[in-house]
Amino acid sequence: MDDLFDISGNVILVTGSTGGIGRALAEGYAERGAKVVINGRDEARVASETARLTALGHSATGAVFDVTDPQAVDEGVKSIEAEIGPIAALINNAGIQHRQALEDFDNERWDALLATNVSSAFYVGKAVARHMISRRSGKIINIASVQTELARPGIAPYAATKGAIRNLTRGMCADWARYGLQANAIAPGYFRTDLNAALVADPAFTKWLEARTPAARWGNVGELVGVAVFLASNASSFVNGQTIFVDGGITASV
Ligand code: NDP
Repeated sequence: MDDLFDISGNVILVTGSTGGIGRALAEGYAERGAKVVINGRDEARVASETARLTALGHSATGAVFDVTDPQAVDEGVKSIEAEIGPIAALINNAGIQHRQALEDFDNERWDALLATNVSSAFYVGKAVARHMISRRSGKIINIASVQTELARPGIAPYAATKGAIRNLTRGMCADWARYGLQANAIAPGYFRTDLNAALVADPAFTKWLEARTPAARWGNVGELVGVAVFLASNASSFVNGQTIFVDGGITASV
């Protein structure tokens, strides 16, 4: 019997995988035999994460590029395809967050959010999809957020970028499903990463989160791996254009 969830030998590029969620996803894929490509802007962080996975006996290669720079993205994707192999799955994970009252929200921060959270998925998605289209197969997984559903104060621009990611995911499906590609999104709830450092440090926030979330706790980044493996494997062969929430039930409860 085929293992529906088998991803061994597949080249999987995870953007922003030197820390947080991307790091956990890359490790989860590597543990299941995928050839993971570690990405970030900082050469030393990429080298250190790649070395850590390699020392654990996994297949990992570094690709240093800034996902907001379309030329660097094109060059990075080209060299992964030439030197590591055909990209079977792309995880558009790199992202940033800024919290500030909307009336005071800096224009530079708005621009940075759009560039890192939205343009990145377009640039990397397009560069990778062109190769996938020529092979008539490939999986794209975009990282969205529960913030598309929650409307919390101070976070409107970030939530707007994640809403764009949900619709970009549907659009990738609409344009590319005919070529055998699948595009889906994972919408995480609250996870303790550098991106959430201010919330993690605030006991009042954890109290709110525990009261608001049916599971009554923060998520652990490893809890995103199951859905990520599902979406990168044949087990999800007819799942397309969807956003799957991994959030302890926070978006299911009013
Ligand atoms: P972290 O800040 O912990 O990690 C972000 C990663 O992205 C780092 O590896 C960083 O590396 C990389 N990165 C940032 N900017 C760029 C860039 N321009 N080019 C390449 N790499 C970049 O964030 P999280 O792990 O928390 O978040 C990952 C994704 O998950 C984001 O899209 C976020 O919006 C989303 N998310 C997170 C949630 C959470 O609770 N943590 C909840 C919902 C969604 P470096 O700085 O070295 O380049």
